Amino acid sequence: MKDLTINAATAFDLPPAFAGRHLIDGAWVDGPETFERVSPSHDVVVSRSALGGEAESEAAIAAARSAFDAGIWSRISARDRAAVLLKVADLIETNVDRIAVQETLESGKPISQARGEVGGAADLWRYAASLARTSHGDSHNSLGEDMLGVVVKEPIGVVSIITPWNFPFWILSQKLPFALAAGCTVVVKPSEMTPSSTVMMGELLIEAGLPAGVCNIVLGYGQPVGSLMSTHKDVDMVTFTGSTAVGKLITQAASGTLKKVALELGGKNPQVIMPDADLEQAADAVTFGVYFNVGQCCNSSSRIIVHEDIAEAFVARVVALSRQVRFGDPLDDSTQVGAIVTAEHNAKINSYVQDAIKAGAKVEIGGAPLSIDGLGPQFYQPTVVSNVSPDMAIAREEVFGPVLSVLTFKTLDEAITLTNDSDYGLSAGIWSNDIHACLEFSRRAHAGTVWTNTWMDGYPELAFGGVKQSGQGREIGKYGFDEFLEVKSLVMRVGRDSRTPWVTMSA
Ligand code: NAD
Repeated sequence: MKDLTINAATAFDLPPAFAGRHLIDGAWVDGPETFERVSPSHDVVVSRSALGGEAESEAAIAAARSAFDAGIWSRISARDRAAVLLKVADLIETNVDRIAVQETLESGKPISQARGEVGGAADLWRYAASLARTSHGDSHNSLGEDMLGVVVKEPIGVVSIITPWNFPFWILSQKLPFALAAGCTVVVKPSEMTPSSTVMMGELLIEAGLPAGVCNIVLGYGQPVGSLMSTHKDVDMVTFTGSTAVGKLITQAASGTLKKVALELGGKNPQVIMPDADLEQAADAVTFGVYFNVGQCCNSSSRIIVHEDIAEAFVARVVALSRQVRFGDPLDDSTQVGAIVTAEHNAKINSYVQDAIKAGAKVEIGGAPLSIDGLGPQFYQPTVVSNVSPDMAIAREEVFGPVLSVLTFKTLDEAITLTNDSDYGLSAGIWSNDIHACLEFSRRAHAGTVWTNTWMDGYPELAFGGVKQSGQGREIGKYGFDEFLEVKSLVMRVGRDSRTPWVTMSA
């Protein structure tokens, strides 16, 4: 512990507990029951939300269904839809601080990262607004002179959006503006641990002029709310971000009605460090990649695969950087690593580290939970674990904490085998100055995103998603937008003789 730089509690007047309500058919709805969120870093109640059940879920789905069927959003022009999305983007920017503080209090993430998450989301809304106006199908004049074929794209219908606690505002913005741009209506359920920023988004949507019933929000737990949103016959698609285990439950639940399911799930993302890499830049990226969002990040670079000739020097560099990482009070602007989301999760992180030690791994720095004076017990030290073998749980499962596992390799082939030796396939990266090695790795890595000499750079124009048990479907970009569209073929006999071939044959 004396090894680490700790930011102790700052004097900060916490805002009163946020009162969360459901948004159903344009009205804010309280419930007979509520649930509370206690801040993982400050040990006080920071939100009190209406607890949704079957009645609220049914009402929200009915509102989304009738808004869709009435065409108040799906059948207006893309220009008018885009105008609302652009207003939302502006409103996000004027509300960054208020939303970011609440996210920090509920999740434990550092305030500087919460501000980046919330403010950055405005760009997703603007990008989705631009896509709304580019949606087009195609026409076919090759079917014969008397025929015209047109392929049109139409909104898929009512979409359930179910989100996790680690980036509540950003992940909502990877889904919601794209669904709205396509003309869909939605029901959203945020995580029970971080409900408030989604409610705040609902406020911005109303202020921007989104018609009643187009976006509905139900607060509560996976059971019954998320489950009903996945099974209901009036829902046409579920888009989910969260754990692989819940992703499988949602797929099963949705199969009863064969509704479309898009899944963004877990990852065990490797960065391969080649011997010719710029080690300083690679060490910076590895340190950022493992500690960003307190390591509770689907794209966390939680395992590095480093060439054995440089392993010792590289690990020493990462350990030195880990020692400099400022961790502690998430409300302090200079904090880089904040609190762990729940006490249970903190214990789980620690059990991965302790099991690895028992199996022969070596802790280079950190390796234990920590209580910080004036804050609480829910912190985990920035941790580097070396001597990790590929069969250890710490190398295979999502630890979802500030813990880096170090594996070594001799040849590029071996590095690629280790990269792909995983049930997950969200992202992977390589650090090298050899273009051939970088290209070979990029093509052979089983992952939805492969980074070369960078990590976690993301752009709305690209596509985001995973292969294997990291998910199905894509978010953002043109590909993410297309997930919310159905393709329909219009076949028109335009010649003067409109008899069908069967009539012609029997005449
Ligand atoms: P989680 O799966 O526990 O919960 C996610 C959401 O699902 C919550 O809103 C929860 O209430 C709801 N839910 C729970 N049970 C449900 C059920 N039976 N039916 C419907 N909904 C249900 O995930 P989490 O702990 O909130 O988030 C962490 C996980 O999310 C990690 O595994 C992480 O890798 C993953 N994640 C993935 C991405 C990505 O884009 N690939 C991004 C962020 C997080």
